[in-house]
Amino acid sequence: MIRLTKQMKEDMRKIKEQDLIVCQDCGETDIVEKMWVDTNSYVSIDGDAYYKYGGDEDDGQYWCNKCDDMCHPLHISEYNEYKKENK
Ligand SMILES: [Zn+2]
Repeated sequence: MIRLTKQMKEDMRKIKEQDLIVCQDCGETDIVEKMWVDTNSYVSIDGDAYYKYGGDEDDGQYWCNKCDDMCHPLHISEYNEYKKENK
Protein backbone atom coordinates (compact mmCIF):
# COMPACT_ATOMS: atom_id res chain seq x y z
CA MET A 1 0.00 0.00 0.00
CA ILE A 2 1.32 3.41 -0.99
CA ARG A 3 0.96 6.12 1.60
CA LEU A 4 -0.03 9.52 0.23
CA THR A 5 1.62 12.65 1.45
CA LYS A 6 -0.18 15.99 1.65
CA GLN A 7 1.96 17.20 -1.26
CA MET A 8 0.88 14.28 -3.43
CA LYS A 9 -2.79 14.97 -2.75
CA GLU A 10 -2.23 18.65 -3.56
CA ASP A 11 -0.52 17.76 -6.84
CA MET A 12 -3.30 15.37 -7.81
CA ARG A 13 -5.89 18.08 -7.23
CA LYS A 14 -3.89 20.47 -9.44
CA ILE A 15 -3.74 17.91 -12.21
CA LYS A 16 -7.50 17.49 -12.01
CA GLU A 17 -8.08 21.23 -12.37
CA GLN A 18 -5.45 22.16 -14.95
CA ASP A 19 -5.03 19.10 -17.06
CA LEU A 20 -8.56 18.21 -18.01
CA ILE A 21 -9.43 16.33 -21.16
CA VAL A 22 -12.80 17.34 -22.55
CA CYS A 23 -15.14 16.17 -25.31
CA GLN A 24 -14.51 18.00 -28.59
CA ASP A 25 -18.25 18.24 -29.31
CA CYS A 26 -19.82 19.31 -26.01
CA GLY A 27 -16.80 20.35 -23.92
CA GLU A 28 -17.85 18.17 -21.01
CA THR A 29 -15.35 16.37 -18.82
CA ASP A 30 -17.63 13.36 -18.38
CA ILE A 31 -15.61 11.13 -20.71
CA VAL A 32 -13.98 7.77 -20.22
CA GLU A 33 -11.03 6.19 -21.94
CA LYS A 34 -10.81 2.52 -22.77
CA MET A 35 -7.39 1.29 -21.76
CA TRP A 36 -5.42 -1.65 -20.49
CA VAL A 37 -4.26 -1.58 -16.91
CA ASP A 38 -1.99 -3.75 -14.83
CA THR A 39 -4.53 -5.76 -12.81
CA ASN A 40 -2.21 -6.26 -9.87
CA SER A 41 -1.12 -2.64 -9.52
CA TYR A 42 -4.25 -1.62 -7.61
CA VAL A 43 -3.93 1.26 -5.16
CA SER A 44 -6.90 2.66 -3.26
CA ILE A 45 -6.90 6.36 -2.43
CA ASP A 46 -9.85 8.02 -0.73
CA GLY A 47 -12.20 5.37 -2.06
CA ASP A 48 -11.00 5.61 -5.67
CA ALA A 49 -9.08 2.81 -7.34
CA TYR A 50 -5.89 3.60 -9.25
CA TYR A 51 -4.17 1.21 -11.61
CA LYS A 52 -0.88 1.34 -13.42
CA TYR A 53 -1.43 1.95 -17.13
CA GLY A 54 -0.26 -1.09 -19.02
CA GLY A 55 -1.28 -0.61 -22.64
CA ASP A 56 -0.20 0.96 -25.91
CA GLU A 57 -0.53 4.72 -26.25
CA ASP A 58 -2.33 4.65 -29.59
CA ASP A 59 -4.98 2.23 -28.40
CA GLY A 60 -7.13 4.97 -26.88
CA GLN A 61 -10.86 4.93 -27.48
CA TYR A 62 -12.97 7.57 -25.79
CA TRP A 63 -16.62 7.71 -24.84
CA CYS A 64 -18.54 10.84 -23.89
CA ASN A 65 -21.34 10.19 -21.42
CA LYS A 66 -23.01 13.48 -22.31
CA CYS A 67 -23.10 12.86 -26.08
CA ASP A 68 -23.64 9.15 -25.41
CA ASP A 69 -21.21 8.42 -28.25
CA MET A 70 -17.58 7.86 -29.11
CA CYS A 71 -15.69 11.14 -28.97
CA HIS A 72 -12.42 12.78 -29.88
CA PRO A 73 -11.17 14.40 -26.69
CA LEU A 74 -9.10 17.55 -26.52
CA HIS A 75 -6.99 19.04 -23.79
CA ILE A 76 -8.99 21.84 -22.18
CA SER A 77 -6.57 24.49 -23.46
CA GLU A 78 -6.94 23.14 -27.01
CA TYR A 79 -10.71 23.08 -26.64
CA ASN A 80 -10.78 26.73 -25.56
CA GLU A 81 -8.62 27.68 -28.57
CA TYR A 82 -10.87 25.65 -30.84
CA LYS A 83 -13.99 27.39 -29.49
CA LYS A 84 -12.40 30.82 -29.96
CA GLU A 85 -11.56 30.10 -33.59
CA ASN A 86 -14.95 28.59 -34.42
CA LYS A 87 -17.31 31.13 -32.93
ZN1 LIG B 1 -19.61 15.15 -25.62
